[in-house]
Formats: sequence, C-alpha cells, structure tokens
Amino acid sequence: MIQGLNMDRQLLVSSLIEYAGRNHSGTEVVSTDSTGREYRTNWSEVRSRALLVSSALQSEGVNIGDRVATIAWNDHRHLETYYGITGLGAVLHTVNPRLRVQQITWIINHASDKIVFVDADFLSIAESIAPDVPSVQRWVVLSDELPSTSLDNAVAYEQWLREFEPISQWPIIDEWSAATLCYTSGTTGNPKGVMQSHRSIVLQTWATCTGDGHDVNSGQSILLAVPMFHVNGWAIPFASAMAGAKLVLPGPDLSPEALVRHIQSENVTFSAGVPTIWLSVVQHLQATNQQVPSLRRLAVGGSAAPRSLMDTLEDDYGVFVSHVWGMTEMTQGSAGRFTNRVQELPRDEQRRRQAMAGRELYGVELRLVDDKGEDVPRDGTTPGELLARGPWVAGAYFDLKDDSTHIADSEGTWLRTGDVATMDSEGYISIVDRAKDVIKSGGEWISSIELENAAVGFEKVSEAAAVGLPHDRWGERPLLFVVLEGNQELNKDEILEAMRPHVASWCLPDDILAIDEIPHTGTGKIDKKLLRERFSNHKWST
Ligand code: AMP
Repeated sequence: MIQGLNMDRQLLVSSLIEYAGRNHSGTEVVSTDSTGREYRTNWSEVRSRALLVSSALQSEGVNIGDRVATIAWNDHRHLETYYGITGLGAVLHTVNPRLRVQQITWIINHASDKIVFVDADFLSIAESIAPDVPSVQRWVVLSDELPSTSLDNAVAYEQWLREFEPISQWPIIDEWSAATLCYTSGTTGNPKGVMQSHRSIVLQTWATCTGDGHDVNSGQSILLAVPMFHVNGWAIPFASAMAGAKLVLPGPDLSPEALVRHIQSENVTFSAGVPTIWLSVVQHLQATNQQVPSLRRLAVGGSAAPRSLMDTLEDDYGVFVSHVWGMTEMTQGSAGRFTNRVQELPRDEQRRRQAMAGRELYGVELRLVDDKGEDVPRDGTTPGELLARGPWVAGAYFDLKDDSTHIADSEGTWLRTGDVATMDSEGYISIVDRAKDVIKSGGEWISSIELENAAVGFEKVSEAAAVGLPHDRWGERPLLFVVLEGNQELNKDEILEAMRPHVASWCLPDDILAIDEIPHTGTGKIDKKLLRERFSNHKWST
C-alpha cells in the first residue's frame, strides 16, 4: 500500500462550532426559552458560551468519556450544552422528557450520567428521579435563577456559568471517541443506547448539508421543529453550524400558531419534523388563510408522510417536501430530492416518488432481505426487511450484551431496521410498515401505513391510525381510527368509499372508529401499541 499524504486532522464536533464561530458571528441564532422570552444570539456567541460550559464541566470533574445528560427544549442554552459537552470529549446524552419517569430513571442509570442539564419545565421529573439516580452529582437548571426546588445539588445555569472563565480551546481527541448518546424509544423492552462517535457526527452532518440531504447551507434560515432530544434534532443543530445557517429554536411551544409565527417573522426557508406537526400547520394555515412565502422546503419523516400533505404543501403553499427516512441508529438514511430523470417525469409520477420514503443516501447502504436472509429484488414491489450499514450507522448498542438487531453474514455486519420496505432500482424506498405493525390477514400482509394515507387523503379525516386486531377467521384484520375534521359525524361508508381507489378491497378496514385524539409516542409517532392494548376487546361487527 502507498499511503495518501493528507494531514492528520481529526473529525471532531468542536470543529463545527469553531468554524461557525470564526465565520458566522453575523449569523443569528434566535431562541425562545420555556418562559416565552426571545433571545437573539449568533454563532460566535454560541461558541464562546459553549467554551464556558466546558470550563464549568471541567471544574465539576467531567472527563473525556463521561456522560452528561440534557432534559431540555430546543433553545440556545441547550445548543450551548451540545457543544460544551462534546467539545470537552464528554458524551452528550439527550434524554426524551416525554418518556415515562421509570424509563428516564432507567436510562440515566444505564448511562451513568454525572451531570444533568434540565429545563425548569422538567424540574419535577428531576425531583422525582433524583433519589434513584446516584451517579448524578449535579443538576444544572437551564434558567437565570434557581427556581424553588427540593434538589439539594442544583444550580442555575446562568449563575453557574458566571463563576468561570471560558477554556481557551477544546482539546484534540480521537475522532472515534463517543460524542453523543441517544436511546431508542423502546416501545418494547428497555431502550437501547445509540452512541455516535465524533467522526460519525461530522460525516452524517456533511451528508445532511448536501443538496441531496437536507441541503442545509449558509443561505438558509432554519426552524428546528424536531426536538433536540430526538436523534439530535436530526443533526440539524450540527449542520446549521457546519453551514453557518441561521437557526431558529422555538422552545417548548410547537403549536401551529407558534411555528407559523416563527416562519413568518424569521423568514424561515427550511424546516424539518414529523408529519403530525406539518398536518397541524397546514390546517392552521387553511383555517386562518395565511401564507408562508419564505418557506421553500420541508424535510418530513420519522413516520410516513401522507401524499395529500405533500400535495397541499406544494400546490397551495409552494413548499417542496423532501420525504426522508431514518432512525436513531443512523439519523438520516434516505432523502427525497428529485433526480434529473424524475424531474422530467409527468407531475403525477413525480408525486408518486415523493410519497415514497426517499432514496438511498450516500453513506447509508440499504439492502432488503426475506425471512431467510436472502436478498429481495429491488423491483419496487417485493417487500423485505430493510437492513442498513455505513460509517454513521450504529454498529452496536451501548453496554448491551444480547444484541439481536445486528446480523453478520458473508456481506459483513448489518443493522436490522425492523422496517418492512420495498425498494426500486433507483434506490427509492417505500416503508410498508414496521415489522411489528404489519397487519397479517389470512397469510397476506396489509400495510397500516397505506390505510392511514388513504384515509387522511379524504378531506373529512384529519388524522388516522390503523392497527391489526385478532380475528377468528383471518388471524388479524385492520381496525381504523380516525380523527374527524370539525364536529363531523362518523360516516364509515363515506370513508371506505374515499379509500377504495387507493387500497385493494380486501385490505380495507373491517371497522372504523372515530376518536378525539390519536395517541403519539414521545417522538411523535402513532402509538399503535397503546391502541392495540386499549382496543384489544374490540368486537368485529362483520
Ligand atoms: P426513531 O429511531 O425513533 O427515529 O424511529 C425510527 C423509525 O421511524 C424507523 O425505523 C421507521 O419505522 C420510522 N420512520 C422513520 N421515517 C419514516 C418514514 N419516512 N416513513 C415511515 N416510517 C418512518
């Protein structure tokens, strides 16, 4: 081998904020905290304050590899901790506050977090778990002053930072060192810890910035509607620094009114988030007759985005939807930009592709296999389990012995995503379902996602969820839940008729129930496990 003669520079998260701080002091980071107060800062200040966070952590005895948790909304302080923790070589462990208290306790103990940064809004969580998380030596409340609390080792972030001088620079560490830790939602069993290295974060951030990724660039004003505790806000807090883009952090208020207000007042050009958020934004825009002229592109993913949502956003609001697929284990795995060839296709063909879950993105190699582990053709119709591998795909879980999620064969190690999908020759994937959500009727598979998309395509249905429930004859049959627009009466036949053109007749739901609200998991996905449990005694009328 003859070695390449490049410089030996490690790919570190600190290099992102160093770059942004050096070049983008004029680029704003706009943030709303949990009290509703707005802050206007910039990348240079974020860097300076992150150096201060590192200094304070150092004085607490935090070392390379120590885990430091955050339980926080999307705001500038959370952003500072992102860089302050990782810059020092400690591991940023973002905790999802919407998990059950028992799960949060389990996660913090599993991670052995030393310090926890907690939003004042989540103080009650900290207070209730504190006696059961002995590794935590300090609670830093993300506020100006310490609210009244029963925590005996708590300090207010702003007062705490005032005690220190910033460190002069971040250490150069090995790029393979752990940078972040994020636990999967764990709807079954305990959550699993995905630990990303600095190298992985930098590489996936680069992919996020590419035109085929999220196209994050210095001309963008980005509204972060994905919680920073969900897969690190889909890498957008890192990508905005790499690109030097304006970043708008909305705090706790993710109501459609607040999101639209931010988009209009900050000239937001790009945002990302789960479909539920954008469904509510579209409903609000329609109800209030408003437009969002600055918004050009949305990345929608995390669960299946219905085609009707994409059509409305593009036709009525001029917003292109890039439908993306990904997981905690890899962040973004696909992207939705049209290729040259697709741009030349008739509109309806383009839209059909747009409704798929994006195309394989360079860096995450995808493969479909059947239940014997044999490859399934990339013909756009044959379903198989989606496997993934790549330099930023998790190769193992943190401190987990029995790992059935990774498989090794002659092709190497692959991550089993648990998603059933089809793939075509151009790399477009369609997620048929989560393997555990597929409805198995008489030996055939019904996609719950297909039913939901067909139902929300009907104007009187604002949200839908389909689950398989036991059926004497067929094993399982689909039950559809709908949330109706306004105060409409449920008319099952009308909904079935509207779905009929989009779904094979044997797949149509056997029953439809109207409910006030579809339950969602902590990361905004439909909580089908809960629906199945709640309606396990449902009696089929047919
Ligand atoms: P999480 O690790 O919480 O982000 O969940 C990852 C899972 O979300 C994937 O394995 C999919 O089941 C689901 N998911 C993500 N993006 C999509 C999408 N575009 N369409 C359908 N399901 C998706």
